[in-house]
Amino acid sequence: MEAVMNDAARVKAQTPRRRAPSAALLERLRQRFGERLSTSQATLLQHGSDESSYLPQPPDAVVYVQGSEEAAFVVRQCAAERVPVIGFGTGSSVEGHVLAVQGGVCVDFSQMNQVLAIRPNDLTATVQAGVTRGQLNAALAGSGFFFSVDPGADASIGGMVATAASGTNTVRYGTMRDNLVSLTVVTADGEVVRTASRARKSSAGYNLTQLYCGCEGTLGLICEVTVRLHPHPEACAAAVVSFPTVRDAVDSVIDAIQLGVPLARAEMLDALTLRAVNAHSRTTLPESPTLFLEFCGSKAQIDAQAELMREVVDSHGGGAFEWALRPEERSRLWTPRHHAYFACLQLKAGSRSLTTDACVPLSELAACIDETQADVAAHGLLAPIFGHVGDGNFHCLVLVDPEDPAQNEAAEAFSRRLVQRSLDHGGTSTGEHGVGLHKMRYLEDEHGTPGVALMRAIKKALDPHDIFNPGKVVTP
Ligand SMILES: Cc1cc2nc3c(=O)[nH]c(=O)nc-3n(C[C@H](O)[C@H](O)[C@H](O)COP(=O)(O)OP(=O)(O)OC[C@H]3O[C@@H](n4cnc5c(N)ncnc54)[C@H](O)[C@@H]3O)c2cc1C
Repeated sequence: MEAVMNDAARVKAQTPRRRAPSAALLERLRQRFGERLSTSQATLLQHGSDESSYLPQPPDAVVYVQGSEEAAFVVRQCAAERVPVIGFGTGSSVEGHVLAVQGGVCVDFSQMNQVLAIRPNDLTATVQAGVTRGQLNAALAGSGFFFSVDPGADASIGGMVATAASGTNTVRYGTMRDNLVSLTVVTADGEVVRTASRARKSSAGYNLTQLYCGCEGTLGLICEVTVRLHPHPEACAAAVVSFPTVRDAVDSVIDAIQLGVPLARAEMLDALTLRAVNAHSRTTLPESPTLFLEFCGSKAQIDAQAELMREVVDSHGGGAFEWALRPEERSRLWTPRHHAYFACLQLKAGSRSLTTDACVPLSELAACIDETQADVAAHGLLAPIFGHVGDGNFHCLVLVDPEDPAQNEAAEAFSRRLVQRSLDHGGTSTGEHGVGLHKMRYLEDEHGTPGVALMRAIKKALDPHDIFNPGKVVTP
């Protein structure tokens, strides 16, 4: 994508490419890691790409670490030559996060995949950073507990911490930030540091855990993560209901939250997304704005929530509810939502998506989506909208032909307007995907010059030689 790719080129131009690792450094890594050091073209390409539209920017080498001390060893070796170090989970991020814009050594965490402890009495678990959310939940099967954060992709927990991820469960259980207890990180001088104890709360000093959450690998490597667990609710019910307009659907969720309905999930798909998922999942859902809902609790609590929700939905002209109670029925009912991203990509053969991530205060959400729909129509874009409306968060996938510069520029211009609109409504440039390369230009608009200067000061203090994922979030 012309405009998007230029971001990577711009960052490269601003911060000239560092020295590649010397032959001696690569040899030291090879001696320590053997076949777990790779410089094969295919491996480098895979680790220089994410789910964004950017062209790959491969690192010079990839090391598959198996423990914190190994990660610390890589950092010490690279720090000595000021060679960049880029953490890599599963590469599912969407804003150019893992691109090695200045080369360097990519530290792949996929072999740090041990669940180290499950503590039902504390409602916590400790995992190595490469454990995916699916792997953790598989390890928790039968324990009565689950890990709630679900960003759609089966991302690594370390990557989810690094991007401050969230997802469909957030309206009830919170984001990655809310579900973090402590971390073990490797600092720029190769020290292994624990950021907090396992206590549920603490007033002891600065909150280092939250500093690393959302840092996108620019402050250090995250090696171990202690997360909160939640007990499985006694029962759950899923429902799908359609509305005449997006505003009716969104206002229903806002009213329900303001009335105190403890929604477990509340996702909105617009009519175009419904068209895409019907074609993709062979469903026959009405092609109008639709809410995918989930309620959890005791049977009596679910009945009470459902009744209140029915009244709210009626007052906004919603249609009949389709309900599912048993786990397999619920999963079938929600399949269209889970497939929305890939279904939308198929709306236009050969297209790529510029995926946006607006998040505003709940009270501003309906107006922000209305204005965004008007913008899509005014500019003749093909751009389905769906999102975690219970969090005030929505995504607009602008589908473009990657070979058509005009379409790409139009998509980028739309994205700029959407960020500005989100900020005008008191929101943020990214609710969950993070800054990466793509959103760096908006940080100052959102936080002001003094706010970004403070971030730069933190970056400089923790990573004085700018070795951790350089060229992302803030440049020194
Ligand atoms: C179909 C689809 C749907 C998605 N939906 C959502 C959604 O609903 N909500 C949401 O939040 N996101 C969503 N995402 C984005 C993505 O899943 C998240 O950003 C995810 O948290 C990234 O995890 P990862 O393991 O893939 O990290 P990667 O992509 O490998 O890395 C992401 C960033 O974290 C850094 N990093 C990774 N591991 C470490 C580590 N151990 N130490 C230090 N830095 C590290 C990397 O350097 C990079 O900057 C979606 C993506 C896709 C493809």
